[in-house]
Amino acid sequence: MSRDFPGEAGRDRLRSALEQALAEGRRHVNRGKVAAYIPPLARADPDALGAAIALPGGEVVAAGDCRHPFTLQSVSKVFSLLLALERLGPGAVFSRVGMEPTGDPFNSVLRLELAEPPRPLNPMINAGAVAVCGLLVEQLGPGSFGELVELVRAAAQSGSVDVDEEVYLAEKETGHRNRALAYFLKDLGVLRAGVEETLDYYFRQCALRVTCVDLARMGLFLAAPPGSPAPVCRELIRMVNAFMVTCGMYNGSGEFAVRAGIPAKSGVSGAVMAVVPGRLGVGVYGPALESRGNSVGGVELLVALSRRLDWSVF
Ligand code: GLU
Repeated sequence: MSRDFPGEAGRDRLRSALEQALAEGRRHVNRGKVAAYIPPLARADPDALGAAIALPGGEVVAAGDCRHPFTLQSVSKVFSLLLALERLGPGAVFSRVGMEPTGDPFNSVLRLELAEPPRPLNPMINAGAVAVCGLLVEQLGPGSFGELVELVRAAAQSGSVDVDEEVYLAEKETGHRNRALAYFLKDLGVLRAGVEETLDYYFRQCALRVTCVDLARMGLFLAAPPGSPAPVCRELIRMVNAFMVTCGMYNGSGEFAVRAGIPAKSGVSGAVMAVVPGRLGVGVYGPALESRGNSVGGVELLVALSRRLDWSVF
């Protein structure tokens, strides 16, 4: 058991905090709507809400609707960034994408024309993630998608994480906004690989299918508790955690930092991966989203948990 929640009593305390936070989150789900712009996501149950907490040593505490598999969507951006940082280095990555939050919606085209130098403001918005995928395709080839899958599987400690073909094909078919972003990046010279090859990489990473437990373990991987194996350099893990704090919850990142105070990344499937640095990881699934694209119940659940268990890093 972890140093935070030692023994049976610690586990009971954690489980009871999670149950109470789940009840708090459930009070809010009816304020949200499931994402309908990717057709298979529209079939999700808007009332579903579940969460898992992964502790050092392998223990997992879970509650609510934890059995549904779902796709990573934007949570995948954290791992392709980590792969690019590790394989190509921060210099190469930050020559194509910046480090600043935007305050704009995740799929906005607006600032691409205004940013100086001309590049996406950060790797957590769609334009920035497409630029990172393009760099991976350009430097390592489309086959490097296999490395990304291996990284996610290692983080999730699950060999069964794979692409949901239906979601991937639906995004490929309907992702007109992402296609527009990619062509804009091509015109700026930020994207040097082929547009379709790059989008294929991006749509596949968004369509990686996981469970709450996988997501919690992925959070634990980024929490990098002392003594945990470090397959990725800790300095790079520190960088991606900083991006999650400043840009991980779309244009709601500031509010989430004030209310919950922990690095987190959301996706339009209703996934939220949260990291309590040095301590543990949390995986949440709640497909009803608020207007910015964050799981409405998931955010309230994490805020309640963080307050109850004093997780804020600030
Ligand atoms: N595949 C989604 C898109 O590109 C991901 C967006 C998200 O989760 O924020 O539109």
